[in-house]
Amino acid sequence: MGRQRKGDLPPPLPETAKGAVQSIAWHCLAADEAAARLAASFEDGLGEDEIARRRATHGENRISPKPGKGPVLRLALQFVQPLVLVLLLAGLVTAILGEWVDAGVIFGVTLINAVIGFVQEGRAENALAALARSVTSEVTVLRGGCKQRLSSTQLVPGDVVLLAAGDKVPADLRLFRAKDLQAIEAALTGESTAVAKHGEALPEGTLLAERANMAYAGTVMISGQGAGVVVAIGDRTETGRISRLIAAAPDLTTPLTRKMAEFSNWLLLAIGLLALFTFAVGMWRGESAFDMFMAAVALAVGAIPEGLPAAMTITLAIGVSRMARRRAIIRKLPAVETLGSTTVICSDKTGTLTENQMTVRELYAGGMRTAVAGSGYSPNGRIGDGQPVTGALRECLLAGVLCNDAALRKSNRHWEVVGDPTEGALLVVARKAGLDERTLQKLFPRLDEIPFDSMRQYMVTLHEIEGARFAYFKGALEKLLPRSLAMLDGDGAVVELRHDEIEQVARGMAAEGLRVLAVARLAVDSARSLDAVGSDEGLQFVGLVGMVDPPRAKAIAAVRTCHTAGIVVKMITGDHAVTALSIARQLGIAKIGQPVLTGRELAALDDEELRHAVHRVNVFARVEPEQKLRLVRALQANGEVVAMTGDGVNDAPALKQADIGIAMGLGGTEVAKDAADMVLTDDDFAAIEAAVEEGRGVYDNLVKFITWTLPTNFGEGLVIVAAIVAGATLPITPLQILWINMTTAVFLGLMLAFEPIEQHVMHRPPRPPATPILDAPLVWRNVLVSVLLLAGSFGLFLFELAQGHSLAEARTVALNVFVVVQAMYLFNCRSLTLSALRVGLFSNPAVWYGVLIMAVLQGLLTYLPLLNRLFATAPIGAQEWIEIFAVGILAYLVVGIEKRLRKN
Ligand code: ATP
Repeated sequence: MGRQRKGDLPPPLPETAKGAVQSIAWHCLAADEAAARLAASFEDGLGEDEIARRRATHGENRISPKPGKGPVLRLALQFVQPLVLVLLLAGLVTAILGEWVDAGVIFGVTLINAVIGFVQEGRAENALAALARSVTSEVTVLRGGCKQRLSSTQLVPGDVVLLAAGDKVPADLRLFRAKDLQAIEAALTGESTAVAKHGEALPEGTLLAERANMAYAGTVMISGQGAGVVVAIGDRTETGRISRLIAAAPDLTTPLTRKMAEFSNWLLLAIGLLALFTFAVGMWRGESAFDMFMAAVALAVGAIPEGLPAAMTITLAIGVSRMARRRAIIRKLPAVETLGSTTVICSDKTGTLTENQMTVRELYAGGMRTAVAGSGYSPNGRIGDGQPVTGALRECLLAGVLCNDAALRKSNRHWEVVGDPTEGALLVVARKAGLDERTLQKLFPRLDEIPFDSMRQYMVTLHEIEGARFAYFKGALEKLLPRSLAMLDGDGAVVELRHDEIEQVARGMAAEGLRVLAVARLAVDSARSLDAVGSDEGLQFVGLVGMVDPPRAKAIAAVRTCHTAGIVVKMITGDHAVTALSIARQLGIAKIGQPVLTGRELAALDDEELRHAVHRVNVFARVEPEQKLRLVRALQANGEVVAMTGDGVNDAPALKQADIGIAMGLGGTEVAKDAADMVLTDDDFAAIEAAVEEGRGVYDNLVKFITWTLPTNFGEGLVIVAAIVAGATLPITPLQILWINMTTAVFLGLMLAFEPIEQHVMHRPPRPPATPILDAPLVWRNVLVSVLLLAGSFGLFLFELAQGHSLAEARTVALNVFVVVQAMYLFNCRSLTLSALRVGLFSNPAVWYGVLIMAVLQGLLTYLPLLNRLFATAPIGAQEWIEIFAVGILAYLVVGIEKRLRKN
């Protein structure tokens, strides 16, 4: 070992960050020297008092986010949108023409619009960023001699961190133990190939990328196991120093917002052409250029749906927070929309569809089956009829305890497992037999190990027992039985292997839905290492352990809801086919007679055959994580929109490929969480179903807003064009149009974002992703309402003039027609298919608040002298209000009838 003598001062590193103390070159130190410097113990970790003291000195383990775009720049960016630029230009020309009030109001409205956008965007960004932060990464540490899981923010220098495949390194660590440990350090070095890690000291001058005895914060472990002592936290870590972390602002664009942005560009073009057309018609009719310019401005401001971008962002943000309340954290905003189109959900079994609360129910060793009593992780319960365990049975329990990384803990009179629940169950069953894992692990320490991974499907540890060396294997029966040549009998003697009997017992256990683990051992010659014998034949079969892991009650109901919603649920598991099928039947995922496809069968299929198979089969067992990627691709090739869950490192490619990658918040690795679009905070399948429901609701609300807002814009456009073509005075001025658009978008339209999910959303099939936002019926509804607006406002305008009212009064009536029809139509838009009465008149109070505010605003606009002057309006009488409301009610009824006719 390239050790440095104790007392030698390690060479200091160059100063890399302003204000940072001169750092120690930890990689040059021997591991125990590093520990000594940090007053840390590899065996026990730090004690409580010391941790508190260090936390007070060093603070939390967090990297301060890099400041994002400043508020001034973000506000300025609100103006750099084509629609807004058109408005600004219109305002500018209006000002040049000397229309100061109009210009002032146009600029004022643009500013208000920008401020609303700025505030709402900031809120949405903050909400998303806060949600992203709420998915805390957890670490396993050794403190006060016990293993603990805690949030990585709680780490202090000197903490001993245990690393496993899939972990994101939580702080800078000097490694002191590494077994097959490999890291991807792309986040730090840009290098995307894995680097092997070890615990030996390195020479001075070793470059950062080559410091194999260090693990740096933000990098990820992709295989093996290891342990290290924390040498730097938060901003003091290498990642913190170079501060390469991107500013926390998440991306707020989604396919739908992009589509709408494209749509508004087309709209702009259409408006431009229409403006030119009206201008030309007007000039040809001999109108003044000034009037025609003002008409073109009116057309532009009227037909531009100013409120649309802000409304979409807000609706999406509300959806995201609703999903979070139902335990699904969205990491990438587009997922909110995609969820609504999901046609297939591929879910892991263990922990997502099942409780992940393992309890050993049955043991098979020495040719005997033994029942185990008790429930949960409490070590109370008898094995068989309580006789002392001996021979193969004792060896089976001993192997289960030694080949094990979990720990049992009692907190608040409640037993908990730290680590893998499968392994926890083995500790519990051993305790029931009077075997205490802490004593046994001290008595027969682990000399070497091959850690468990889902590809290998077993784990091995090496121990010296009464002078002989044994490697203990535990894992899938298919992996261990073919390598076994003999077995232990009831007395522990090595006898001939009863292959068929073992398989039959295992099948019986699996058919009862038990998860079956095989245990075997290998006598190892002391000269050979575990790496050399890990793949040896000649195992001695020791026994079988059958454990229950009941389906989650909520998952059963959620699967049923998915089925009514036209979504197929598929189970993809690493577990045995028979166990998987039994659980799948209990969950309603597989029907009697439906086949299972195993990983091995899957490997034999070509892509075309697999496409057919994924259509027929709902349960995939003994699947290796790598095969999940093929499954996703095959489903997508069939035109499915796939949501896929995953938790391990090897699941990451499939999570990225899936339309919605879903990682487990509790049991998932950091690598999987990073790759996912959505994280489940409680790992429960029911949260996926809830997220799909919310996703459908959000999409509906977006469509409702669009259906509500476009007729106003079309209607206003139509009114202007019609007035010019008819050679009439404009029934509404540009300013009045701006007033309508801004106030109604904020106080009426936006309230649709708060619309609760309609009851029938999970009773209809998924929305095909290619369908246009507005289908033909909705386009017709838009045309219908636009024409109603045109007829109502233009008609009443002309009527008022004919009655001898002033232009200002007639315009005030026309303006109020727009607002009242919009308010009435809002109730039509609360559901795209049902009537407002059917959705519940008061089920969305926001709508009523909005209507109330709008009523006050219209009152002020009509009767307040100041606003009369600004907006060229005038007070109107009761008779006029009756006419206005008559148009509103008529419009409401016409749309109601149209809806009903369509439904029938
Ligand atoms: P799912 O894929 O639905 O989460 P799973 O937990 O069974 O199910 P894996 O974790 O890939 O999937 O496990 C595959 C198999 O490996 C298990 O069926 C079991 O036989 C074996 N196994 C699981 N955990 C361990 C472990 N800690 N040690 C040894 N073998 C294990």
